[in-house]
Amino acid sequence: MLKARLHVPLGFAALALLAVLAGCGTRQPATPPTDPGCMAALAATGARFSPWPAAPGGACGVDQPLILQRAGPALVPPLETSCAMAAAWAGFVPELDRLARAEAGTPVAEVLAAGSWSCRSMTGNSSRPSLHASARALDLRGFKLADGRRIDVARDWNRRDAAGRFLRAVGKAACRHFRVVLGPPADRFHHDHLHVDIGPWRLCQVG
Ligand SMILES: [Zn+2]
Repeated sequence: MLKARLHVPLGFAALALLAVLAGCGTRQPATPPTDPGCMAALAATGARFSPWPAAPGGACGVDQPLILQRAGPALVPPLETSCAMAAAWAGFVPELDRLARAEAGTPVAEVLAAGSWSCRSMTGNSSRPSLHASARALDLRGFKLADGRRIDVARDWNRRDAAGRFLRAVGKAACRHFRVVLGPPADRFHHDHLHVDIGPWRLCQVG
């Protein structure tokens, strides 16, 4: 009985998902309105950043471009990104710190970043511009902890130790904080990094 009752809503859900996906293919991501207070709000978090003098324009232009050196832990390397993405990241840092202390017993010293801005299409879907094209996404390849340990998404994601638990906890927490989060369980494109973004879609694939 339960199975029969579940079939209908699941069927509807699948159809609704297909309709959403079909619609997405023909729409550009909505550009959020510029927040004139973004830079001041980011500075108020204690984040350190500088102007991005060679920020691109045109199709891969970035709204309020900046180079983020640190938001709590240092970004290594410093990140060419948008103010909106930097502010979203800064908002997540207290959670990141809490998880590192809980799972690994020590805070995060460095975030090993793998880029925010990249003028390209979405991985696995060349018809859509990536959120990276507007620097509204961030890729993370791992973390260096304050005790010197290095935690690597490619190497440690599936481990049963503190490193693996920490990474998977970061993925789950990121899903509550960002719009799309893709980790190694998502697909082969994300075997070595965690993607988070502030785009219009919502998807959590971290386990
Ligand atoms: Zn990405």
